[in-house]
Amino acid sequence: MMPRTAKRNPCGLHRTTPRIQADYNYKVSSTMHILVAGPRGFCAGVNMAIESLNIALDHFGAPLYVYHEIVHNKLVVESFRDKGVIFVGDLADVPPGATLLFSAHGVAPEIRDRARQQNLIAIDATCPLVTKVHIEAARFAQQGYTIILIGHEGHDEVIGTMGEAPDAIRLVENETDVDRLDLSTDAKVAYLTQTTLSIDDATRIIARLKQRFTRIVGPSKDDICYATHNRQQAVRQLAREADIALVLGSQNSSNSQRLKELAAECGVSAYLIDGPEDIDPGWFDGKETVLVTAGASAPESVVQACLDYLQQQHEATVEQRITSREKVRFPIPKVLRANRSH
Ligand code: SF4
Repeated sequence: MMPRTAKRNPCGLHRTTPRIQADYNYKVSSTMHILVAGPRGFCAGVNMAIESLNIALDHFGAPLYVYHEIVHNKLVVESFRDKGVIFVGDLADVPPGATLLFSAHGVAPEIRDRARQQNLIAIDATCPLVTKVHIEAARFAQQGYTIILIGHEGHDEVIGTMGEAPDAIRLVENETDVDRLDLSTDAKVAYLTQTTLSIDDATRIIARLKQRFTRIVGPSKDDICYATHNRQQAVRQLAREADIALVLGSQNSSNSQRLKELAAECGVSAYLIDGPEDIDPGWFDGKETVLVTAGASAPESVVQACLDYLQQQHEATVEQRITSREKVRFPIPKVLRANRSH
């Protein structure tokens, strides 16, 4: 490896760049070095949702309906479409008696009620960490709190959580939204968060809420899930050594977008891509160290395809960098367990 020197980046940490020696015969190597972040890619909730859909397909056959995308990843959704899965955003598109699976992002109680009214065979593949937020929302609403949900408007998870107590929940996306809330300082207020937020953004918004509302309560710890924490932590730690970051994931994946933003905040050029076909070769001009990671809904196969591309095109060397280990697993829905092949 070429000797490296350290320089400061906006994360306040060090990143490394090659030391160019004052020797006219010295040849600057074009070799690229890749840091592959771990943990990356599928989380326990996504694994459970995908396994559930595969088992449901085997057992019930196609066509099988899924309310919203099973997970926010283009390739995963397309591969299930090819197997006969129909993704819907409206239960009016599901025929009576059909089998319907709720995605990892969860649904509002109203959707469950409508599925019952239409005599659908409903299978719930909501991530348990999303369900936990739903339970907290219902509990705070029952106790008479106005709930401030920190999240992104229009995200499937946020729509589902708000549906638990539509009259009691207010959505805020940033500190300005907090300042605009027409609630008194001593209002009975509780806060909750979407599971896939930026940790830094959530921390700032919660601090502003605590400044504004003297009696505010919240969950014992924020609702940002372990997978979001770990993937962001890995990027924060490794971006200091990189010149460019590639985040595998789809544009509508909230946690993938947050990884891209975090890498950019750490001072590296950051790109969110579905696979190697989205790569622009010009991105690597003058760059030596590439950080590769993947959002919680991106399959490992696209990470490997990306690494293969970079190895072929740039003779890249690959280094796995694990910043923490994950052993979390979630059980598939009860109704499917008897149909599991192992
Ligand atoms: Fe569950 Fe977190 Fe994965 Fe979302 S990102 S499915 S909350 S584990």
